[in-house]
Amino acid sequence: MRTFDRSKEAYQKALTLMPGGVNSPVRAFKAVGMNPIFMERGKGSKIYDIDGNEYIDYVLSWGPLILGHAHPDVVEALKRAAETGTSFGMPTLIENRLAELVKERVPSIEIIRMVSSGTEATMSALRLARGFTGRNKILKFEGCYHGHGDALLIKAGSGVATLGLPDSPGVPEGVAQHTITVPYNDLDAVKLAFEKFGEDLAAVIVEPVAGNMGTVPPVPGFLEGLREITSHYGALLIFDEVMTGFRVDYHCAQGYFQIEPDLTCLGKVIGGGLPVGAYGGRAEIMEKVAPSGPVYQAGTLSGNPMAMTAGYETLKRLAPEDYKEFERKIDRLEQGFIQAAEKYGVPLTFNRAGAMFGFFFTREKVVNYETAKTADLEFFAKFYREMTAQGILLPPSQFEALFLSKAHTDEDIERTVQAAERAFAKLTQG
Ligand code: PMP
Repeated sequence: MRTFDRSKEAYQKALTLMPGGVNSPVRAFKAVGMNPIFMERGKGSKIYDIDGNEYIDYVLSWGPLILGHAHPDVVEALKRAAETGTSFGMPTLIENRLAELVKERVPSIEIIRMVSSGTEATMSALRLARGFTGRNKILKFEGCYHGHGDALLIKAGSGVATLGLPDSPGVPEGVAQHTITVPYNDLDAVKLAFEKFGEDLAAVIVEPVAGNMGTVPPVPGFLEGLREITSHYGALLIFDEVMTGFRVDYHCAQGYFQIEPDLTCLGKVIGGGLPVGAYGGRAEIMEKVAPSGPVYQAGTLSGNPMAMTAGYETLKRLAPEDYKEFERKIDRLEQGFIQAAEKYGVPLTFNRAGAMFGFFFTREKVVNYETAKTADLEFFAKFYREMTAQGILLPPSQFEALFLSKAHTDEDIERTVQAAERAFAKLTQG
């Protein structure tokens, strides 16, 4: 039997120190009826909590750890970087190296700017799109999350969806009025929005595979349609690849779907577990960023040598074949989950793209936030607790994506499928 006494104690203390006892809302386990689990260390596909419980980790720090926890080569490179100096606030060679590597794999990025989080990347990309086009409005999709910048906290996914929060207090009406939202995968709604606001729309921002309402891939033609409409109206197409970048494919989601956005936001994997974000795109647009242009954006720790090292060493260890391996393993998870669900009469829909995936407890095809919300959240919470008890760590919300790393073995996958089957058996027969 697993116990969580030390986590419980730490949580009681944390409640006196931080809002809700956590430094990011998604770490609360409210939606699954548990307290947060405090972690101590990770190695490969495994993570260990402060009570000594081991888990196969499908959270992977919410995406960055595509090589698994504490990859020895990355750790070694980080030690060397730390010894050389943790921050200079001046240009370093490792910034060039990471920028070149990203450019090589993502041809739509001609010029890139490093920042320190995904939120900064999307906020800055929006400012740039507005500065470049001279327009104010932006279009986003319901249930997509693009960080917590004011303009993007409208009908957002991730923790906002998990906690069932309304659009956040503190976002001025004057900002919110410029954000238009329509359902994901609904090109007709996009067309209507452009007919109404077309001349004012600076950009469409989209997760090319949505991962913040659970995993929801684009339907065929959706991304192509966005490319066409934005080009027609002179608006920019921004792919928020903070989650999908180097996770869905070696060339990111844009390589997988063969669509060239004007701007791309990156984060998570390009930081290899350290705080990194980035935005980049066509030179003509990126040259508008200060100091080469007038759109201001800066950062004390931008391009930080430790963070750049973690990103560079991580990306270097990813090859096109790895993505085939991810798909093979997720094939097995999909097949295992579907068979187990059928056996016990559990309604289940499985969605996936590259090394991200997710399942919803619903019979509906999940293509947007409305259909994601048909999932049985109470069943998810029970299932979650059963999986935790068996040492499988999932994101504590139905509205989050699951991730695989290169460190996950076939045995991890089999253990996960068996755990799911036992959980379904227990929850439906008792
Ligand atoms: N965009 C997307 C698609 C994300 O998934 C996230 C974080 N989950 C962000 C932006 C924000 O990134 P960060 O949490 O690093 O600010």
